[in-house]
Formats: sequence, structure tokens, C-alpha cells
Amino acid sequence: MTETPAARGALSEELFTRARRVIPSGVNSPVRAFGSVGGTPPFIAEAAGAYLRDVDGREYVDLVGSWGPMILGHANPRIVEAVREAAGRGLSFGAPQAGEVSLAEEIISRIRPVESVRLVNSGTEATMTALRLARAATGRDVIVKFAGCYHGHADALLAEAGSGVATFGMPGSAGVTAASAKDTLVLPYGDAEAVRALFAERGSEIAAIITEAAPANMGVIAPPTVDAGDGSGARIGFNRFLAETAHAHGALLISDEVLTGFRAAREGYYGVDGPAPGTADGDAWAPDLMTFGKVIGGGLPVGAFGGREDVMALLAPAGPVYQAGTLSGNPLATAAGLATLEGLDDAAYAAIAKTSELLQGLVGDALAEAGVPHVVQRAGTLFSVFFREAPVRGYADAKAQDTAAFGRFFHSLLDSGIYLPPSAFEAWFLSTAHDSEAIDRIAEALPAAARAAAEG
Ligand SMILES: *Cc1c(COP(=O)(O)O)cnc(C)c1O
Repeated sequence: MTETPAARGALSEELFTRARRVIPSGVNSPVRAFGSVGGTPPFIAEAAGAYLRDVDGREYVDLVGSWGPMILGHANPRIVEAVREAAGRGLSFGAPQAGEVSLAEEIISRIRPVESVRLVNSGTEATMTALRLARAATGRDVIVKFAGCYHGHADALLAEAGSGVATFGMPGSAGVTAASAKDTLVLPYGDAEAVRALFAERGSEIAAIITEAAPANMGVIAPPTVDAGDGSGARIGFNRFLAETAHAHGALLISDEVLTGFRAAREGYYGVDGPAPGTADGDAWAPDLMTFGKVIGGGLPVGAFGGREDVMALLAPAGPVYQAGTLSGNPLATAAGLATLEGLDDAAYAAIAKTSELLQGLVGDALAEAGVPHVVQRAGTLFSVFFREAPVRGYADAKAQDTAAFGRFFHSLLDSGIYLPPSAFEAWFLSTAHDSEAIDRIAEALPAAARAAAEG
């Protein structure tokens, strides 16, 4: 019997119809609606390892991984057991519990610039509070961000943001006050001259620069090297340049590692482009504040922000900066986060790095074979595929790709049981559960998908 697409996804179709009656666009986070690729999103019934199964019984190799957290695979037995055990002792206390201390200790032991850390419930909360802290620490209002970097959906950070804002080509968001937008200055990513010029003009008003440690919400971009500006012609990493420029003007650097943290490498992206441990003072640099999320919750809602002890000491109740959370640091979330970090040893990162490289090669080969303009870009173990020829250095480049070709590529893969992020502006997420069988399935599906992309 030949299946029609409608019959094949009948139960998802029915759920999506019901969902749209009661939930705006039928989803609780915009990219899930498949708006930019078209079609009905499969409703997921269950997941295990590298695979998702939808309500119609179709299986997919998952390259979304809940947008990052499922780095040890879905329903990982150790994590599920840790959560089950914690659940048996109570779901939330609204009072201190040991798991919070252990998770904070684990974060601090891995990430050198973090001396003190507070747990929240999402990446959005983490970046929102980091801005408030930076403004309190400096007594200044202005925040500098980069076009195409996504930092969650707090008002001040929605100007020219990546992720869903990029997927749907939105300039920002309605409902953000003029006052809030006025205090957010947006520069092109990687443009050291623009940063220098802005600080020369308004340095004394700037509280902080916020940047993704490596942009991964407009596709993946490795931070470039830039002229150190000391006349020697020496080149330094863009993140170090931002730290030095901010500090020279009394501002802070907030490095957003919500996506890259504990994923791009063991120490997040700071482990890739930060100074080697024990580096001489002149070469040492560090962000003042860092934000985390995704991986540290292992699939449960967790975010965190941390950094310099003197800045973190400004938080209530000891300090004047208010921040709180009914469910922050709850025992299920910290159990899932701890079990995830425990499983993320050097072997896990090595495995993901190897799989990432393999998949980058397979995708690049398939697209080249079909004559599809593309560029595969990586940062640590993260990578994404842009449907254009030239390298992507910032948001304008990322937007100048063939999103229609991506849509055809995406749907061909989906039909073959491969679940990519439904947007040309997202990283592809791997896990330790992506074994040779999962990669073989992808490899088998790629040539047809590449041909579909070519048939514009
Ligand atoms: C996902 C993400 C956020 C927002 O985190 P949520 O948990 O979705 O609120 C912030 N910054 C970056 C870099 C992200 O990738």
C-alpha cells in the first residue's frame, strides 16, 4: 500500500489542528511550527538515544536534540534514573537543597572565569539578569550586542536577534518599548572597527557588551581574529578583543554560553579560544559574566549566570540587585544537570568531535556532488550548513542564503527519517548516542536530499 503524506502523518495533523485552536500557531516556541520550511511538524511521542518517534509511529534520527540539552542522547538511563530518584524525594522545596551546591561546584570547577554562580530556569532569565547586574555594577544603561546573536527573549535583547527571529526574518519584536530599544546598540558581528568607533564615541555610557561566545543562532560562526590595535599588526581573537575593549572603558563583557557551554568543548567555547590555563597575566583574559543553559539542565528547565565574585556579590539578599525564582535550583533539574555533566567526560567530547567531523564531511560531499552552493562552518564541535557559496561572517551574510533550497533539503531528509532543525539558521546538534548506525542512515538519505535542494 502506498502511503500519502496526509495518511502518513494523520495523527500529527490532527494534533496540530487541535493545537492551533488553543495555542498561538499551535506551538510554545516559534521555530517548532515549521513556518519557514512549511508542512506539519511531527508531534513526538517518545525518544531514545539518537532517535525520535512521532505519534504516527515514524522514527527519525534526531539532529535537534531539544536544541542542545540532549548531548548524551534521549532518555539516557543514567539521567532518567537520577531524575526518578530525585522525584521520589519530592519535586520542589522552595528551600536550599544539596543538588544546587553540587551543580554550582561542577560549573565552577570547569569554567575558570566563574567564581560564583546562580541557577535560574532558562537561558533568557540568565542573560536578562546578567544585563541587570552589569548595569548595576557600572551605573550605566547602554548594552552593546551583535546582529544575529540570540540571547533569549528579554526585551533589551530582541534587536536583530538570531534563532526564531532570524528564521522568520523579523527586525526584532513588537511590544518592546522605545526606551528599552534605545539602550541596546547593535553592531555587525566580528567588526572590531565598529566596536572601537562606538566605544570612542559613547564608551562612558556602556555597561556591557554581550556576545555569543561563538554565534550559533544564525548558523555557526567561529569568532574571527582581529587587529589588536596596538600598532604591532598582531592579531587576537574577537572575544579577547571585546574583553580588552570593554575593560579599557570600564564596561563588562558578558559571554553568552547558553548554547556553547559544556557542548563546544569541556570548558565551553572559552575552552576553545580562552587563554591556556596558567597563562601569563598579559595574555590572560576573561569575560566578567557568563551565561549557561541547555546542557546544564539535561533536558529540564535550567539556566545559570555567573562570573566575577565582586559582581555576583551585588545580588540580593546581600546586594541591591534583585533576582529570584520560585522553582530555581529545584531538585529534579539539578539532578538532571549533574547526571549530564557527570557523563560528559573527555571521551564523550572526543566522540562528539569525531561524529561532528564525519557528518560535516558527508553533508559537504553530498551537496558538492549535487552542485548545491553551500558552506559548512564549525566552532568547536558545533557546526551548521549555509546554502550559499561564500563564508558567512555575520548576520547579513547568513541572511543571503538560499532558504528555499534548505527547505527542499529539509523535507527530503524528513521524508527519509532524518530530523534536522526546521530552519537554515540553526546548528545541527549531535550527541554521544549518534553511533555509526545513526550516521549511516543520514549518509544514505543525503544524496537524494542534496538533489532535491539542487532542483530549484
Ligand atoms: C537558547 C539560547 C538562549 C535562551 O535560552 P532559553 O532557555 O531558550 O531561554 C540564550 N542565549 C543563547 C546563546 C541561546 O542559544
